[in-house]
Amino acid sequence: MTFISEIHTFHSGRPQPASSDSSATFTSVDPSTGKPLATIFTTTPAQLDAAVASAHSAFDEWSRTPAPKRSAILLRAAAILRERNDDLALTETLDTGKAWGETSTVDVVTGADVLEYYAHYIAGSTPGDHTTLREDAYVLTHHEPLGVCAGIGAWNYPIQIALWKSAPCLAAGNCMVYKPSEVTPLHANTLAQIYIEAGVPPGVFNVVYGDGPSCGAPLVAHDGIAKVSFTGQVSTGSKVASEAAKGMKGITMELGGKSPLVILPDADVDEAADVAMVANFFSTGQVCTNGTRVFVPDTMLSRVEEALVQRCREGVRMGLPRDERTNFGPMVSAAQRDKVNMYIRHGKEVDKARVVYDGAADAQSQKPTPDGFWVPPVIFSDCKDGMRVAREEIFGPVMCILPYSAASDTPRDQWLPELIRRANDTPMGLAAGVVSSDLGLAQEVVRQLEAGITWVNTWGESPAEMPVGGWKMSGVGVENGPEGIRAYMRTKSTLVQLGSGACKGVFAKL
Ligand code: NAD
Repeated sequence: MTFISEIHTFHSGRPQPASSDSSATFTSVDPSTGKPLATIFTTTPAQLDAAVASAHSAFDEWSRTPAPKRSAILLRAAAILRERNDDLALTETLDTGKAWGETSTVDVVTGADVLEYYAHYIAGSTPGDHTTLREDAYVLTHHEPLGVCAGIGAWNYPIQIALWKSAPCLAAGNCMVYKPSEVTPLHANTLAQIYIEAGVPPGVFNVVYGDGPSCGAPLVAHDGIAKVSFTGQVSTGSKVASEAAKGMKGITMELGGKSPLVILPDADVDEAADVAMVANFFSTGQVCTNGTRVFVPDTMLSRVEEALVQRCREGVRMGLPRDERTNFGPMVSAAQRDKVNMYIRHGKEVDKARVVYDGAADAQSQKPTPDGFWVPPVIFSDCKDGMRVAREEIFGPVMCILPYSAASDTPRDQWLPELIRRANDTPMGLAAGVVSSDLGLAQEVVRQLEAGITWVNTWGESPAEMPVGGWKMSGVGVENGPEGIRAYMRTKSTLVQLGSGACKGVFAKL
């Protein structure tokens, strides 16, 4: 693999060399060792302007490129991503600490899937619709690109987020200035190079680097930006949306969650435990859609807890992310490790939740390296709705079990409405799921859960054709599916009068 140890702002089709005013740098760190991986040069204000300007100068040609040609270029980019899957996945594993088994099968692949989905979408669609209004007139409606869009990413799915934003953006004929998270920036220049190699003209996809205040905020506020697609925390998203509103810019907000996983009384215990493990411990718990509030009927509680403890003891393999056996890596950063540990302490000492499993006390979960950002899994039970661990997004491997009363012989209208009220009792609404052996009942429950992404008897998968987005504080708009590309288009309607004289005498008669 070719590893880049120095990373620079990418615009006009190439990385920009450091200049006398671009000496500020930051470091990307390997979460499994705490050692530096690469030095990144923070984008200067002048480079940010130049990146937006380069996107503007590329817009005219790219937006006029016929859809079949744009489609072919994006399909080439997807093919290159797939060919280089192993190299790209390894970069993600080094940068994020995610297990190789995940990055090599999910991160790049699901990004390429979305690129292909939109490449096919534009090849098969027409740029507008035409409606016959009456015999002497018709209406043409065109869906046109917006211009230059900003993409801002979170650290947990770096290349996937960059692709989920740039694929519909570029497919619709826009250009993008993308800012990856300063915590996991390694993928972005490689992606920019791949786009160039596939035939995307210079300036169509650009990358700027830095933290929120120095780079993200000025990008959002920049006059040359028409829309901001953001992935990150609710609190940051709220700031970004306010800033974007000053310029009436379009927004897509993919934010955090505290999602409920509802185990119904008829669920199979093993099935329930398997779904809960994936919903909580995939990516070491660093997934926005995690189902961290697990509602379990009190009649099943001890069996579900037992099944979960057994899976933690026998199934969690904490280790070096590059090791093929590992399925549980470190936290992405020291700051994230400290935040998650703070919540675990709070759960034990202040909330006084019952600890069902504490990986730190389990011999299976010894730290694989002394300086990595390790946090073994924790399961709390008997959690109350108001506990801090059960209300706030922790973004780490901490599961909260919330028991509810539902004897199997009690009619469901005596317990289901209260269960649904509790599951919905959160300001967030990103994801939700139900485990049940009765698909009809599962559907009835899932339809009442206030969340944009829902699953029945599974957790986490979202193919390219599935629109995903949060309700309530968890977001605005969606990514993927047909709706995902419409968010990068604006509508122009034209009423065409056939023949002349339509306005003759009209004003005089008023
Ligand atoms: P974050 O909000 O701290 O940072 C996200 C991005 O915003 C980073 O690139 C950061 O530099 C930038 N930023 C910070 N302040 C900014 C500002 N004022 N203006 C513009 N940009 C600014 O989030 P994070 O810690 O990187 O990511 C974790 C969060 O992301 C979690 O809450 C998780 O749930 C959420 N997330 C959501 C989804 C989704 O699809 N809904 C997907 C992944 C992650």
